[in-house]
Amino acid sequence: MSNLDLIIVGAGMAGLCAARTAVELGLNVLVLEKGIQAGGTTGLSDGIFNSCDPARQFPIDVHDSPEKHFLDILEYGHGKGHPELIKKYTYGATEALNWLEHIGFKFERSVTQEPGTLYPRSHKPIYGNGESYINFLLSHLNSLSCTISYGSNVVGFKKDDSQPLSVVFERGKNTIELTPRFGVILCAGGFCASNRLVSTNFNLLSGSEYLGSPLCDGGVLTSAMDIGAESVHMSYFELSVGDSAIEQLLLNPAEFILVNAEGRRFCREDLEFSSLCEAVLRQSGHCASILYFGSGNDSANRPQKIEDRFSNALAQYRKACEIKSDEAFGKNPFYLKKVGYVTKTAVLAPKIMASLGGLNVNEFANVLDRNRQPIKGLFAAGEIVGGIFGEACSFGDNLASAAVFARVAVREALKI
Ligand SMILES: Cc1cc2nc3c(=O)[nH]c(=O)nc-3n(C[C@H](O)[C@H](O)[C@H](O)COP(=O)(O)OP(=O)(O)OC[C@H]3O[C@@H](n4cnc5c(N)ncnc54)[C@H](O)[C@@H]3O)c2cc1C
Repeated sequence: MSNLDLIIVGAGMAGLCAARTAVELGLNVLVLEKGIQAGGTTGLSDGIFNSCDPARQFPIDVHDSPEKHFLDILEYGHGKGHPELIKKYTYGATEALNWLEHIGFKFERSVTQEPGTLYPRSHKPIYGNGESYINFLLSHLNSLSCTISYGSNVVGFKKDDSQPLSVVFERGKNTIELTPRFGVILCAGGFCASNRLVSTNFNLLSGSEYLGSPLCDGGVLTSAMDIGAESVHMSYFELSVGDSAIEQLLLNPAEFILVNAEGRRFCREDLEFSSLCEAVLRQSGHCASILYFGSGNDSANRPQKIEDRFSNALAQYRKACEIKSDEAFGKNPFYLKKVGYVTKTAVLAPKIMASLGGLNVNEFANVLDRNRQPIKGLFAAGEIVGGIFGEACSFGDNLASAAVFARVAVREALKI
């Protein structure tokens, strides 16, 4: 056995928060990172971090609480998220936020309200986006002499119930096996870079663009499953429009309709975002055209000439608005406002932002086997974990929950 206390797999938000927490506790830690640098999807993210925060919310008269955050997540995920995991996250988020600030990370002074949340509780780093967590945590880890081994691809685990768990990884031409004293924390991100895993679990997303790190391909997840870990919610994904200008067009369902390549409407446009995306993915080419009637922020909007194939759909929708009844799809009459001319057209092709499924864990970040028993010495945090959010996840909950469960995992590994 080596003199290593803990191995952490992956150097994104979860991995670096776990590493920093572990070195604060005086542990001898090795981080194995497949890439030539740290960051993963965290480094590409917008950096939004959700948490109740009385210090920022109270002065602006926002009366939020971990319980309200819990209920928001449960509802947004259609009741499918595991309540004990959501509770652990929402009741731990403020501690994680305070910890980051305590060690010197800087968030903006105000909070914002992201889609899917009922209260302004989203925090943004002052300097940059997701990469700012990585740069900050890395600089502190370097000065604390934590070892990060880049170009180290974890390919398997060795489990023998009488021995601590071992990690097998490839580095250059070498295959190395290490056995840490307290365990292994899996922080290798989601699996969306694997089109095979994505399409097996949700075939409508086959070939869809993934906005995160190409290194997050689910290899560690499947290796954990090879030693008996259970996966959960593998068909749930967080989707995105991938373009803020297009996102703006979709804000008010009264101001747009969606039409498919055949020129037909195919759903009510007041569906919530994940259902709207699913309806679009069911159309040929997995995309749809947006016909937008609003003026948005652009006072110079002019009538757009639309393609002939869309004329019928537009005429039928105008009629539905006149009689305040969308018989074809049942859009709420509240949104059936008088339609002027089309001011913009754009193509909506949903993209993948995150996987919401992954390893089944308990509230102590223990990875569970198929009998729902903890696998000794194996923990997980971040996007590799499934089951927290259910069918949908609000913007800003992934990073915060990665930080919370990373810290939980380290304490659980030490049983403190
Ligand atoms: C464009 C975009 C914007 C987003 N914005 C936000 C946001 O503002 N707020 C929010 O909460 N969420 C956001 N998300 C989601 C969020 O970024 C991720 O869920 C989160 O960063 C995951 O963190 P993580 O630490 O689990 O994984 P990652 O940050 O992806 O880190 C995983 C690491 O593991 C490494 N790894 C993978 N396989 C192996 C292996 N076999 N061996 C060794 N290492 C391995 C990877 O190289 C990577 O460095 C966004 C996602 C995208 C795509």
